[in-house]
Amino acid sequence: METWILGAITFFVALDYGINTFVDFLNHRSSKRPLDSELSELYDEKEHRRSVEYQAANYKVSFISSTLFFVLLILALTYEWFAALDSFVREQWSNEIVISLAFIGILTLFSNLISLPFGIYSTFKVEAKYGFNKSTVVTFVSDLIKGLLLTLVIGGALLTAVLWIYQELRSTFWLWAWLLFAGFSLFFFMFGTKLILPLFNKLTPVPDGELRSEVERYCASQGYSLGKLFVMDGSKRSTKANAFFTGLGKSKTIVLFDTLLEKLSTKEVVAVLAHEIGHYKRKHTLSMFLLSNLQTFVLFALLGWLLGVEELSTALGASESSFHLSALAFFLLFSPVSMLLGLLNNGLSRRNEYQADDFARETYDEGGAFLREALKKISTDALANLSPHPLYVAVNYTHPPIRERLRNLA
Ligand SMILES: [Zn+2]
Repeated sequence: METWILGAITFFVALDYGINTFVDFLNHRSSKRPLDSELSELYDEKEHRRSVEYQAANYKVSFISSTLFFVLLILALTYEWFAALDSFVREQWSNEIVISLAFIGILTLFSNLISLPFGIYSTFKVEAKYGFNKSTVVTFVSDLIKGLLLTLVIGGALLTAVLWIYQELRSTFWLWAWLLFAGFSLFFFMFGTKLILPLFNKLTPVPDGELRSEVERYCASQGYSLGKLFVMDGSKRSTKANAFFTGLGKSKTIVLFDTLLEKLSTKEVVAVLAHEIGHYKRKHTLSMFLLSNLQTFVLFALLGWLLGVEELSTALGASESSFHLSALAFFLLFSPVSMLLGLLNNGLSRRNEYQADDFARETYDEGGAFLREALKKISTDALANLSPHPLYVAVNYTHPPIRERLRNLA
């Protein structure tokens, strides 16, 4: 049984890496396609060349980092490094909850350490070379420390609660653990922008003026109560522009990056905002939130059922079963399912983007000219890949490629 489980884990890990690497490669090749008449509206030859080079640089970084992680994982499975780490923490502590916390904490720290050089290279070499990076060393380091502290405090508290529930309840553990997760994600969905985002960025209400009155006029025409409308100092880290919608009911919030306001005209900004409100009006925010909780429900049910299978831990080389080893084996075994779920979620998300674009065109931007212009500016300024491979889009894109969105709005 153990050999069979370990074989399946190794196979799935290799399959996952193989598929992703192949799809990345297809996309890398596809990004180099020459400009056609449709795309030469977006880039001239020089910009296109820069975009191809930028895509290639990102491809290289992601290939090296994913290959490194894959090799380390295969080595860890072959040489039973996870079991060795388990014995190590067992020698230091005796409380089962502390042992699991230490095991998961050390693995998280280790994987963060390996990712760090790639993050540094990508920010200060690649992004800087193409003029996107605005992050200073101080911002980068303080982001890193804040991120780590947040993981430690919030992740640690949540994990401790889950471990405690597991120790006390066993058979109904999964249901309570899921309820805890669902409650927590609801809380963050509603108050995350208020509690977490200000730790990293400055949010200022959009001041009275041309933009605010145009936004208010539009919202009134849609019977939409505006809620909170903020400008965020995205320019602190990058020149890339963005906007997003979050929250439910009274907590609903629209955030516009300052870089967006710099690049776009008032009408174009309001077209983007109409798109965001489209997500709310078409109930995308709510339905995606419910869907993700449904998925974690199934995930916890399966986890609760399989944690009882001792061989999950012993397959990784341990002599006794434990929560952390079994959960780790479970998540590695689960990788094909999570890939399929990713395809489903990304597909739904892309469908929602079209619907939100349609909403903006129908309610504000007759003919879609403002949104088209906004999308063109946002993606060409970010040197976006104009011809991504369809398989790469299916696996990785939450938004349709720019060409398809422009066609939809035409
Ligand atoms: Zn959207």
